[in-house]
Amino acid sequence: MHSEIFRCRSMSEEVFYHIEVPSTGHVTCSCQGTNWCSHIEATLVFGERAMVYPDDRAAADRAQALAKGRLDRPRWWKATWQSNRRWRGLAVKEPKALDLLRQGVPVVSLEGRGKKRTRAEELARRNGWETVYAPTKGVLIHVSDAANDDPRCKRARELGIATVTHDHWPLIAPHADAIKAKLDTLAKSEAAS
Ligand SMILES: [Zn+2]
Repeated sequence: MHSEIFRCRSMSEEVFYHIEVPSTGHVTCSCQGTNWCSHIEATLVFGERAMVYPDDRAAADRAQALAKGRLDRPRWWKATWQSNRRWRGLAVKEPKALDLLRQGVPVVSLEGRGKKRTRAEELARRNGWETVYAPTKGVLIHVSDAANDDPRCKRARELGIATVTHDHWPLIAPHADAIKAKLDTLAKSEAAS
């Protein structure tokens, strides 16, 4: 029986799944997908090719033609791959903070508004920090009085960014250089290990 096979990269690792489209019967993916999975949807329904192994792109085109009209999106299906720009080979915008950090400018993300914010911003400026609203890669410190389950505080934790309160910020702000130096050392020791 004739079938078309091509490799599709995993969204999270450098491994490839095999997608097989036989001339009749089920379309399968070695991620365990039968007739539907993110890999099948992206490559055979939406025609995306960035995640297809480069040598297999012609086979993917033939497979897509062969699968036409045979794939139905399951009712329970929720696609999340479309927001994965890296997987799709689309330009990934870098956070401003990361760019600033590379230029040696320390960045702090500040939660809060009104006088409290103005005070924190003023202190940042005086000590050579740039300020942003949300913690992203490149931010060194997140200043927030919000509860621990606040989404920005959570995001800061995920990124390994220390969160301090507005009360503590005046103690941290003068030490931008020391914090940067410490992070550099950490990054170097991680790279070396
Ligand atoms: Zn799959």
